[in-house]
Amino acid sequence: MTTIVQGLRRIPSWVLPLALGILLIAAPWLGISADTRRLLVLSCILALVTSGLSLSFGYAGELALGQTAMYATGAYLTGYLAMHWVNDLLLLVVVSAVAALVVGMISGIPGLRLGGWSLAMTSFFLVLLVPQIIDLLEKYTGGAVGLVGIPQPKLFGQPLSTVTFYVVVAVITVVWFTVMRNLVTSRHGIAFQVLRQSPVLASSLGISVFRLKLTAYALGAIPAGIAGALFAYVDKYLSPSTFGFTMAVTVLAAAILGGAKSVYGALIGALIMQYGPLRSTDFAQYAQVIYGVFLIVAGTLVANGLAGLANRAIKLLKARWDPQQPASAGGDPDQSAGESSGLTKRPVLPQLPGDRLQIEGLAKRFGGLQALGGVSLTAEPGQITALIGPNGSGKTTLLNMVCGYYRTDDGTIHIGDTDITGAKTHQVARAGVARTFQTPLFPEDISVHEAVAAGMYTPRYVGMLSSILRLPRYWRTVRADRAETTAVLRLVGVDHLADAEAASLPLGTRRLLEVARALVCRPKVLLLDEVASGLDEDEIERLAELIRAIRAAGTTVVLVEHNFKLVLELADTIRVLAQGELIASGTPAEIENHPRVLSDYLGVRQEGMQ
Ligand code: ADP
Ligand code: MG
Repeated sequence: MTTIVQGLRRIPSWVLPLALGILLIAAPWLGISADTRRLLVLSCILALVTSGLSLSFGYAGELALGQTAMYATGAYLTGYLAMHWVNDLLLLVVVSAVAALVVGMISGIPGLRLGGWSLAMTSFFLVLLVPQIIDLLEKYTGGAVGLVGIPQPKLFGQPLSTVTFYVVVAVITVVWFTVMRNLVTSRHGIAFQVLRQSPVLASSLGISVFRLKLTAYALGAIPAGIAGALFAYVDKYLSPSTFGFTMAVTVLAAAILGGAKSVYGALIGALIMQYGPLRSTDFAQYAQVIYGVFLIVAGTLVANGLAGLANRAIKLLKARWDPQQPASAGGDPDQSAGESSGLTKRPVLPQLPGDRLQIEGLAKRFGGLQALGGVSLTAEPGQITALIGPNGSGKTTLLNMVCGYYRTDDGTIHIGDTDITGAKTHQVARAGVARTFQTPLFPEDISVHEAVAAGMYTPRYVGMLSSILRLPRYWRTVRADRAETTAVLRLVGVDHLADAEAASLPLGTRRLLEVARALVCRPKVLLLDEVASGLDEDEIERLAELIRAIRAAGTTVVLVEHNFKLVLELADTIRVLAQGELIASGTPAEIENHPRVLSDYLGVRQEGMQ
């Protein structure tokens, strides 16, 4: 039994979906009834619309309900063009996809510019507008009466029977889900998940948050447009009631039921949502109430939908049959990380070109509070510059201003000769500034290797098309990513955890991983915010060795830290902040005996010192 399961485990993950895809396409020859065929066509169409929502909501974390509007665009455009221009299924599918993409871009920009929940709101209103717009364009859409007289679909001049139409729908669905799978499992998929976890993290890795969100939303529009084109041919009649609010809720329910953060979940969800109403004629009457209740229950209970449940079951089974594979990365890896923490030899990094960080007269006010009152300081390459001061003295504010999260009220910031004053966060990251966070940030469900490789998303960018088509360029980058992360993880001493789930590792390991992720960008300036807090002695020692190695490689290291002992041990220069002012600056020996530091800083925090 064990050997069978292990044999099964070796089968690549794409085999099962491909087999099911072929089965779907071949279904008419397996003797399915006309009703089942219709059910499958409608399920494929709903699955296409739903997969657009999975992409923007499940992966990129942006709740956008506009897919219904793109779906309507595709359907009416196809219906009208098939009647009055040219009736070719494939051509109209392409036209509809492009039109949906355009509608997606235009409708997405205002909502995304505003940020937060704005896209959910604007896209929701867009959906409410659909019936009105259909009414306004009565001349083309048939208004409330509906668009009647759409011809039989043709492909390259040949009319399609219901069976061949089914096959075309199935093939298009399989192709789209392959595209989706290739995108989501590529580094773009990881970037989407980083974005979903934290836009701040994404931008600090050099990712333009606005562009990536717009991309996810606009890409999600494409399958909706395609689905609309196919739907126009199903009954050869379009009614505005098909495209309203109920459709948007159906899509949302299918996404959540199947699992928004999964590629194939949309198919499962769509099949159930199409099958349910067929079983009971009363269903349609209560559909809205049932969907609503379902959304509330499922949304809270099964966060990752049926696909999530299936994944969990598979993981548990694998763990049960394979003793080498820990069920959860929580316990064991800590142990093994602890073992190798006896690491006495210092890691050696390749040369990293550091650059001088120069801050002049930096000032920041929050309302009436002067968080920083004209601070000037420099940090040199190949040195560790520690920034200390009591809580609320402005250390994090200073880091955030260097990173471009806050606008400066006054003053300038330079990296070498590059002026980064007022630059956006992702631009600062691209100028060579990397950072770690007070609380380590890692998206759920991604491996250590993927999490660290996210640091190379921008420096070594590969286009979406190469990733979807899996061109040689894509594979080269995947190999290079793997080699680089393996090297960095080895340096950091956690290479044995490369395939563990990053988010579930202990704090100490996640701190090291954050440094690793920052290192793969080959930063000129590395900002570490409270990097040792919450770590035990061993972990601090490992971290200290790593930071020394980074200094030796030539990087400019800025260390914000409360642990005074660690600061004295590591720093080449120490700058002391108090109430937003620089009160002292010097070597560890000077600062240790500085009267102002002793009274203002050590005096205040005597009991907190280690
Ligand atoms: P530190 O990191 O040295 O503990 P911070 O830089 O976080 O201190 O904070 C400095 C001061 O600025 C504190 O008084 C804090 O309350 C205030 N502050 C920081 N960020 C904000 C913000 N976004 N809005 C308002 N006040 C803030
Ligand atoms: Mg702080």
